Amino acid sequence: MASLTCERLSKSYGAFRAVKELQLDIPDGEFLVIVGPSGCGKSTALRCIAGLETVTSGRLLIGEDDVTTTAPRNRDIAMVFQSYALYPHMDVRQNLAFGLRHQGVPKNQIDAKITEVARILELGSMLDRRPRELSGGQRQRVALGRAIVRQPRVFLMDEPLSNLDAKLRVQTRAELVALQNELGTTTIYVTHDQVEAMTMGHRIAILDAGKLQQLGTPQEIYDKPANRFVATFIGSPATNVLRVRAERSNGRMVARQPGIELDFGASPPPWLAEGGDRDYDIGIRPEQLFVGGEAGEPLTGDIRVSLVEPLGPEKLVHFVTQGGQTLVTKVPTATPIAAGDRPNLRFDPAAVHAFDPNTGANLS
Ligand code: ATP
Repeated sequence: MASLTCERLSKSYGAFRAVKELQLDIPDGEFLVIVGPSGCGKSTALRCIAGLETVTSGRLLIGEDDVTTTAPRNRDIAMVFQSYALYPHMDVRQNLAFGLRHQGVPKNQIDAKITEVARILELGSMLDRRPRELSGGQRQRVALGRAIVRQPRVFLMDEPLSNLDAKLRVQTRAELVALQNELGTTTIYVTHDQVEAMTMGHRIAILDAGKLQQLGTPQEIYDKPANRFVATFIGSPATNVLRVRAERSNGRMVARQPGIELDFGASPPPWLAEGGDRDYDIGIRPEQLFVGGEAGEPLTGDIRVSLVEPLGPEKLVHFVTQGGQTLVTKVPTATPIAAGDRPNLRFDPAAVHAFDPNTGANLS
């Protein structure tokens, strides 16, 4: 096991920069999730770490060893792919043994390791089957098993759950976290799914357009998104963003756009008290926008319910203004509300974020 460091790692394809000066310090035993939208460079970053791509600039360290130009097989890492990449003509036992046999590990040691991994992953009854005789979830466990038997210093996983159906994905997600805890092997896990990132990672690295946007624990990222991109990427449904102008009015700070007014009251949050008289992109999470009630400050305007979506225990309520601004919130299922309603809305001034409209940086 080992720590892993990316030092300003960059990867270009011709003039196109897929990964831009990625800086990651991953301590021994950490489960780090790299997340971002399609094309943001997360698979490229992982493939550079694996040695499947050459690095354009920067350094890669595993523990103290500089492995920037080391051949993939000598990096002592194991990778699990979305496609599983099992050998179809080999049974499960042979698939699990393949890497070890290649390394010249004695047969009795291979057998012992396979027995142990089959126990951990509950594959004992399937060792004589070929991949095509297994379900997707079972194949995925074999692919994991093949990585585990090698006892590498680092696991790299590229969307390993994306071929599983929704229920199995949630179950396997939890199993994978428990397994990583048990093994304690440093793991880098790539996904485009922010829920997977939030539930699995000790820390999360959020990438957009090849650049690291934020690195932090799930809670840090939720509580203090570095910028507008992170705030809208993390959380479901996404954070509401309103372009507003903030100004003082009768001793109270208000933020307005045509058709909407947010009243921050007489004691506004510090970023607004010190700022004001300028434009902001205000971010309000759906769970911090309240329908009716007395909590928070008023958000008023020409706002009507456009759609109510039942989710079981709660429902999503979508609003729209005449100017076309949309907002979304969650309410308990019992709350009486329907399309066309114009309920009172309130928000929590202390919980909103303010972003610079040009750079997107979090000012709050
Ligand atoms: P996805 O979630 O869709 O797999 P990703 O974040 O993993 O996306 P990458 O596969 O890392 O994205 O690709 C990042 C960017 O680099 C994309 O714009 C892609 O088109 C480009 N790219 C990847 N591989 C190559 C290549 N071999 N040659 C040229 N461009 C490439």
